[in-house]
Amino acid sequence: MSDPLRPADALRRIAFLLERAREPTHRVAAFRTAAAVVDTLGPDELDRRIRTKTLTDLRGIGPKTGAAIVQAHAGEVPEYLARLEETYGELVPLADDVAEFRAALRGDLHVHSDWSDGGSPIREMAEAAIGLGHEYMALTDHSPRLTVANGLSPERLERQLDVVAALNEELAPFRILTGIECDINVDGSLDQTDELLGRLDVVVASVHSDLRAESAAMTARMLAAVADPHTDVLGHCTGRLLIPREQREGRRQRPRPESTFDAEAVFTACVEHGTAVEINSRPERLDPPMRLLNLAVDLGCEFAVDTDAHAPGQLDWQGNGCERAVECGVPVEAVVNTWPADRLLEWTAG
Ligand SMILES: [Zn+2]
Ligand SMILES: [Zn+2]
Repeated sequence: MSDPLRPADALRRIAFLLERAREPTHRVAAFRTAAAVVDTLGPDELDRRIRTKTLTDLRGIGPKTGAAIVQAHAGEVPEYLARLEETYGELVPLADDVAEFRAALRGDLHVHSDWSDGGSPIREMAEAAIGLGHEYMALTDHSPRLTVANGLSPERLERQLDVVAALNEELAPFRILTGIECDINVDGSLDQTDELLGRLDVVVASVHSDLRAESAAMTARMLAAVADPHTDVLGHCTGRLLIPREQREGRRQRPRPESTFDAEAVFTACVEHGTAVEINSRPERLDPPMRLLNLAVDLGCEFAVDTDAHAPGQLDWQGNGCERAVECGVPVEAVVNTWPADRLLEWTAG
């Protein structure tokens, strides 16, 4: 940190470190919001606001964010940022074998933006992925039925494809793969038009509703989705939540147990149909549980180690999944996101 940070960048760095520290999302969001407000001010206007002490009159800037802006503007490292850097600036090093596994990953296949229930624009997610050394990231916002997560209608998804195409020209050689986290409907069908699913690079299919269904029904539902030719990855297969979590608009979700289904049948179908089993790295999910991950390894599944990131700092979470993958003996070559983009895309198209 030799060069002084621009105020907006300082605010974003604070948000990033707060995420790493697993602070509540509204706290993190306050810094991202303030950064967006600063982005809209010209340098003269920012000067004037600081001189006249009227920064906090702006909607989205409070005493804490305002103080950080003033300090960064003066060329100092904001105090709050300095304290966070001290504690969270360096990642706790991973064990050697886990670090090696993680280094083999070239991208992430499950990422949300503010088009659905993520907190940040596509570009910021992509830039964070680039910062982590990724070669690609599949943008997988939610499907229409998941209205609580602002799922994308076919029309909005079409528009997103144009936005991604434009960003890809700018960010090359990095590649945003087009994608979706598609709800698996109760009857096992996928919640998006066939035509659009066919155009996407990566389809992650996940169960988000009726999670307490009885085992036979849940198994049939998952088998149908896994066999769907559009499905590439089976997302967070048990749906469990280990710890409470905050959602948009301050709602809290309580922990919940795994869904029940015939895992052997579902993973066997994954092998048959070339669908990868996701190793979801979110700390509240860590899905599949170890015993199921071991079973999937024994059955010869392929895997995707994903973060399911809803904010840039969360793209860092792949280490959680890698730890579990190493512990369960997942062969690194069976992890589809260790493959170069071209090979990956051949596989998803197949
Ligand atoms: Zn999901
Ligand atoms: Zn997701």
